[in-house]
Amino acid sequence: MSKKQFKAESKRLLEMMINSIYTQREIFLRELISNASDAIDKLYYKALTDDQLVFNKEDYYVKVSADKERRTLTITDTGIGMSKEELENNLGVIAKSGSFAFKKENELKDGHNIIGQFGVGFYSAFMVADVVTVTTAFKWESTGADGYTIEPAEKATAGTEIVLNIKENTEDDQYDEYLEEYRLKSIIKKYSDFIRYPIKMDVKGQRPKADVENEFEEYQEEQTVNSMVPIWRKNKNELTQEDYDQFYFEKRYGFDKPIKHLHISADGAVVYNAILYIPENTPFDYYTKEYEKGLELYSNGVLIMDKCSDLLPDYFSFVKGMVDSEDLSLNISREMLQHDRQLKLIAKNINSKIKSALLGILKDEREQYETFYKGFGRQLKFGVYNDYGANKDVLQDLLLFHSSKEKKLVTLDEYVSRMSEDQKYIYYASGESIERIERLPQTEMLSDKGYEILYFTDDIDEFAIKVVAKYKDKEFKSVSSGDLGIEADEKDKETAEEQEQNKELFEQMKEILQDKVKAVKASKRLKSHPVCLSTEGEVTIEMEKILKAMPNSQDVKADKVLEINVNHEIFAALKDAHGKDQAKLGLYTSLLYNQALLIEGLPIQDPVSFTNDICKVMV
Ligand code: ADP
Repeated sequence: MSKKQFKAESKRLLEMMINSIYTQREIFLRELISNASDAIDKLYYKALTDDQLVFNKEDYYVKVSADKERRTLTITDTGIGMSKEELENNLGVIAKSGSFAFKKENELKDGHNIIGQFGVGFYSAFMVADVVTVTTAFKWESTGADGYTIEPAEKATAGTEIVLNIKENTEDDQYDEYLEEYRLKSIIKKYSDFIRYPIKMDVKGQRPKADVENEFEEYQEEQTVNSMVPIWRKNKNELTQEDYDQFYFEKRYGFDKPIKHLHISADGAVVYNAILYIPENTPFDYYTKEYEKGLELYSNGVLIMDKCSDLLPDYFSFVKGMVDSEDLSLNISREMLQHDRQLKLIAKNINSKIKSALLGILKDEREQYETFYKGFGRQLKFGVYNDYGANKDVLQDLLLFHSSKEKKLVTLDEYVSRMSEDQKYIYYASGESIERIERLPQTEMLSDKGYEILYFTDDIDEFAIKVVAKYKDKEFKSVSSGDLGIEADEKDKETAEEQEQNKELFEQMKEILQDKVKAVKASKRLKSHPVCLSTEGEVTIEMEKILKAMPNSQDVKADKVLEINVNHEIFAALKDAHGKDQAKLGLYTSLLYNQALLIEGLPIQDPVSFTNDICKVMV
């Protein structure tokens, strides 16, 4: 019989398996048992929609048996089995199995780490076996990297039988332990305890002979090794952090260590159990269209949907986990689920639990929260912005922004609680990065007055805040908005006087710049810098930039005002040129305008004439 070759990716993975290091090998059993349990689930699910099939729970189990003489370990299940095509397609290819598909080439090279952490499926059998035989209606056999054979087989019972020829011990490696009853039992307990179907083993032992004193007899009996109680039905105080982490891995919710889990047992208006996780790392596809949100949905212990998206609002789409409820009908269709009243209640309940959990982390475990926020804060801000702010009340207290004063992330509440009596607004400044904002001339005066400024470095920030509009009755104000709402003082009077006295000069400058600006004014906010741009109206310069970068953007423009520092030497030069040397005034005006654009990170329309202008000043 001719050997068939594995697909390239599978081959590479197989090699990694075969060379895996000792500590990771035991998970092969978890993988094979999970597959067996899935196969029984599939049969169960089929029985729900097929009247011909009767599913008696007692008839379904997984059996693990070891034969020391023959060095075989056999995993049998009574699940759905595989056809010849399925054997070929499922066991001949591997890359589709989720955890590997996304790993980058360089990460694959360091395969040893991956194996320990992630589900790697059927192929993990080759970590401990040199020959693997899978029998359904056909027999599939492989010795690893050099391919596999398939031939018809006789099999009395339905389901799948997997026989592993356990490798011989070598000088460095022990494989015998995978034939030892106690070792197998402890691996099953550790990884597969909550599997819903019994995992049976033939257990040998000695017991006192009945009626005969001091005599013992050998016996063998079939035992169920796993407790079959799913983790979510267990009592919280029976479970350790490790159990929850293990469940997260086992379920392949993510490849990180979640920063928090929530174990919910609700028995009010709706009865349900749930285990939810807040991940630490952002999934690689999180901010793309490909990412699918959702929780696993079980009805009374049976999985009915992998990713029930109705259970999570978009703004909490990062949450992973599962929900089990007795109140849901088992063979409910996707369309019906959407309108299910129970499901809606559960979703609402879960939503508020997630919110309080996040607030709790924010309050008590700030560092953890900041880690979380780094990955998912953007999503929360989108949540504020979307649906015209319908969810802003839920989310605004979860937001963090960098503070000019504290030099770290702060909440809106913290900001407002520090505001002085005379401060009317919550000030913010937008820009590409903290460093860049720090150097914006517009922030000078506010900082001097001792006002705290929130730094907006995310595209979405300003848009989200526009939707929030007010926090605790305080409105938000951009540092570059025309009116900063600060009480007039001596300096303002001076500025107003200068404005009045040099009215004609400012008007001429405006004329030189034409439509590029709405006005040229004496600045109240500048201290040491000669110029800056401010805006009138709703659209700020940052917003203009972002809108411009969007596909099929409308040409939305901020109403810009060129502000001149009347205490700067340059102002004297302007006054000097005014009326005397029109060409010089034109040159200075356009230079100042272009400088203001540069400070804002806006493109200069004509860089060549800008550099020519500079040369003119130099010679
Ligand atoms: P994954 O479980 O991640 O899909 P595996 O390599 O473990 O990857 O398994 C590949 C496929 O082979 C499974 O998705 C399933 O369809 C099939 N399979 C594996 N083991 C069994 C089994 N015991 N009974 C029926 N089908 C199985």
